[in-house]
Amino acid sequence: MSEVGTVENPLRVAIIGAGPSGFYATEHLFKQKGLTIEVDLYDRLPTPFGLVRNGVAPDHQKIKSVTAVFDRTAKKPGFRFFGNVELGKDITVEEMRQYYHALIYTTGAQTDRPMNIPGADLEGHHPATEFVAWYNGHPDFRDYQFDLSQERVAVVGIGNVAMDVARILCRTPEELKQTDIADYALDALSKSNVKEVYVLGRRGPAQAAFTTPEIKEFGEMEDADVFTIPEEVELDPLSEASLSESADRGTQRKVEIIQSYASNQPTGKSRKLIVRFLVSPTELFGDENGRVKAMKIVHNELYKTDAGSLRPKATDKTEVLDVGLVFRSIGYRGVPLPGVPFNDSWGVILNEDGRVINPDTKQPVPGEYTAGWIKRGPSGVIGTNKPDAVASVDLLLTDLRDGNLIAPTTPDAAAIAALIAARQPHYFTYADWQKLDELELANGAAQGRPRLKFTSVAAMIAALGK
Ligand SMILES: Cc1cc2nc3c(=O)[nH]c(=O)nc-3n(C[C@H](O)[C@H](O)[C@H](O)COP(=O)(O)OP(=O)(O)OC[C@H]3O[C@@H](n4cnc5c(N)ncnc54)[C@H](O)[C@@H]3O)c2cc1C
Repeated sequence: MSEVGTVENPLRVAIIGAGPSGFYATEHLFKQKGLTIEVDLYDRLPTPFGLVRNGVAPDHQKIKSVTAVFDRTAKKPGFRFFGNVELGKDITVEEMRQYYHALIYTTGAQTDRPMNIPGADLEGHHPATEFVAWYNGHPDFRDYQFDLSQERVAVVGIGNVAMDVARILCRTPEELKQTDIADYALDALSKSNVKEVYVLGRRGPAQAAFTTPEIKEFGEMEDADVFTIPEEVELDPLSEASLSESADRGTQRKVEIIQSYASNQPTGKSRKLIVRFLVSPTELFGDENGRVKAMKIVHNELYKTDAGSLRPKATDKTEVLDVGLVFRSIGYRGVPLPGVPFNDSWGVILNEDGRVINPDTKQPVPGEYTAGWIKRGPSGVIGTNKPDAVASVDLLLTDLRDGNLIAPTTPDAAAIAALIAARQPHYFTYADWQKLDELELANGAAQGRPRLKFTSVAAMIAALGK
């Protein structure tokens, strides 16, 4: 047989996970000159784009326009999308290895880190991941219930995801109607009784993980006032010193905004967003029905580690917040894929710079790679996944040159398509997704909204008459 990567014997790659990392990996493969490459991009959902569709906040529509770049990649000859096909359920790694020279896992981080405090199992305490997936219309989460009859809510964590959750809880129905938030979430949030939302950070303002536009946006809400607490936003000597040493203008600006909210007065808006610093939850208290009714928090102070970073240390000052709903937003985490080595302490696929590693031999598994959040953990913005995916694909291309990829028994595009059709007759092609996309846009336009999402797989299949 002719060399792999020629017209007669194309390099056949399966990419599992059609989020940004999967698309960036595809894009880089198609940029290779002098190689004939075929990419099959799989996703367990019928819809592509991963967290761009199901994570990025609906009131940040502009960010979602990155999908235009992915659409261009999907037009390249040699590209196929297999939506509604789950690795580990509809097809196994062993089976895929019979059809492809290489596999790239880009399955993202689909769960979250637990909060191990007494009362964490009470009803009314949820991972932010679930709330985010719910309001974005992820089919697996559409039936989840959140008790929005509560007046006070705590969001534990101070990254951008926590900010998204707090903001969505405080948006007015009119603001939400301008977004592509799932229709059931729009309905539930329009009837919400939430009056106060606390965002809780364990360190100080200079260490807050959220970015400046996010905290600025808190000050621009239509019907929510934002507050911080003067004692908590005054910089302690350690933060002061580290900020002036680093001369980090971005963080200085962020701290100024946070501090400016400490002198805010109520303006009569119906909701309050209160950003707290140097506090950690230590216990959730429940009512007689096993529902959260309050949260104990401890005040922290900062100390400097030997490595020079500032960490929180509990003081003996505690406080109780009366909150009836709690979202934890303390980090996303990957889930293992059947048949793929996993680093359980890090929540990522076991890999070295993107090459999957056999845990016994500590050597690369020939022809298997990973990119994105499932490779490096949940960090960075959408664009961060591009260089990350490029680096993994470059290793794949090195291994191609060195003859270290898989030698599949059936490197045949029609044969794998037939197998997928037998396993999952309702698989979605990219053309199927584009029809669904058009319908969502048209249904949205009819209601003056950017998009009206289909939120169940059955409804998606029915809409296409499949
Ligand atoms: C709530 C939230 C808000 C965010 N907001 C922003 C923002 O405003 N701006 C920004 O730049 N970044 C934002 N990010 C970060 C950005 O979304 C991520 O950097 C990016 O989506 C990670 O890409 P990925 O491809 O690695 O994973 P994902 O986007 O998670 O894609 C993984 C894909 O793999 C699929 N999959 C999983 N398991 C399987 C399987 N077994 N078989 C087949 N398919 C599978 C999933 O369905 C999913 O489509 C946000 C993240 C979150 C969580």
